[in-house]
Amino acid sequence: MKKIFEHIDFSRVGHFQSILEHAGITTHIKNLGASGASGEIPFHEVWPELWVVDEADYPRAISVLESYEPPETEDLTDWVCQKCKEDVGKEFGECWNCGTIRPETGPAAES
Ligand SMILES: [Zn+2]
Repeated sequence: MKKIFEHIDFSRVGHFQSILEHAGITTHIKNLGASGASGEIPFHEVWPELWVVDEADYPRAISVLESYEPPETEDLTDWVCQKCKEDVGKEFGECWNCGTIRPETGPAAES
């Protein structure tokens, strides 16, 4: 296994995990209980960690995350999935139909 990402905010780690899983990359999250699920764990500053199970997937996982645009941007527009040609709402970072990650720039980026 190889660690690809860590962040203090678990929701972000979990989000990246779902992106990679959609891309067919098996992942594992460590330190899931660090925020207090188990009272036995002493309070280190341990962040949730996202690991790629098969190291052969690691380069692809990096490129998947690098090409991923967070959906928080204000000026997003609806987009068309390059893979299955579905119309996808702007609030989705990935195709609801086939799981393809939103491309870095929209189909009509130039204006
Ligand atoms: Zn699609």
